[in-house]
Amino acid sequence: MKLIQWYPGHMHKTQRLIKENLKKVDVIIEILDARIPVSSSNPIIDDLTGDKPRLVVLNKSDLADAKVTELWKKYYLSLGENRLPVAVSSKTRDNLNAIIKGCKTLSVGAKWLERRPIRAMIVGIPNVGKSTVINALAGKKKAAVGNKPGVTKEMQRLNVSDSLQIYDTPGILWPKFEDQDIGFKLALLGSIKDTILVLDEISIRGLEYMVQKYPERIKERYNIEEFPNETIQLIEMIGKKRGCLVSGGGIDYEKAINLFLLDLRGGKLGTFSLELPGEERGFFSI
Ligand code: GDP
Repeated sequence: MKLIQWYPGHMHKTQRLIKENLKKVDVIIEILDARIPVSSSNPIIDDLTGDKPRLVVLNKSDLADAKVTELWKKYYLSLGENRLPVAVSSKTRDNLNAIIKGCKTLSVGAKWLERRPIRAMIVGIPNVGKSTVINALAGKKKAAVGNKPGVTKEMQRLNVSDSLQIYDTPGILWPKFEDQDIGFKLALLGSIKDTILVLDEISIRGLEYMVQKYPERIKERYNIEEFPNETIQLIEMIGKKRGCLVSGGGIDYEKAINLFLLDLRGGKLGTFSLELPGEERGFFSI
């Protein structure tokens, strides 16, 4: 796939910057998309952070299958003491307090905790909601802590609460583009640009996945009683029901599959997750 937006030089520079900045914080707040925690992570974070306490934020949990999100929380908890998972929605502000609480839990026993607030930095790949989390947490308190002449170009620390400060600039990691499965899932959810991928194919696989894991949602939304044998017939049924026709009366397959994609992304098919612990690989393998 031609998805290379990050040149090695760029990656190295970003990596170095994040590493430098991470030295200055006590806790790392790693933002993931709760629907695809593995595909929305970048394993480089493990090298960058070592054993620094890490809050694993399963963001966009308002869009994810709550049962699956619980499984992911258990999974991340099982990884060890200095990693703590929380499920939040920065858009609906659901459970945002868990971020502040989680940072405190991860800092228990630290010598400095009596003297100063916890310092944290938000990291994650594009589109997982880093900015939304920062805005939701900091709100109007955007008055910078280190706001002295001469240091304005530095990253600013924002007071989130009496006990927590975060940097105003997130660390942006890059997705693992070289892995097709990951690229496809990110594209399906609209987290990477559509035009660079064969979106029809990806959407068809997405439809097959939904039929397999959440059949009732598809049946309900498109008024379908029995699934046909072939996906193409299902697309035809969707097209027919929704009036996706070409002139002459045939089915406009592209329009029909696009409609499904819009429904999926727009939450019209309800909450769903594309990855389960232990089953996160092979979604799109042929
Ligand atoms: P960033 O690139 O990581 O900073 O991501 P943004 O904060 O720009 O968010 C990317 C998109 O995801 C935006 O359209 C947000 O409105 C949306 N978004 C972020 N957090 C949530 C969330 O918790 N729930 C939902 N439904 N959408 C979210």
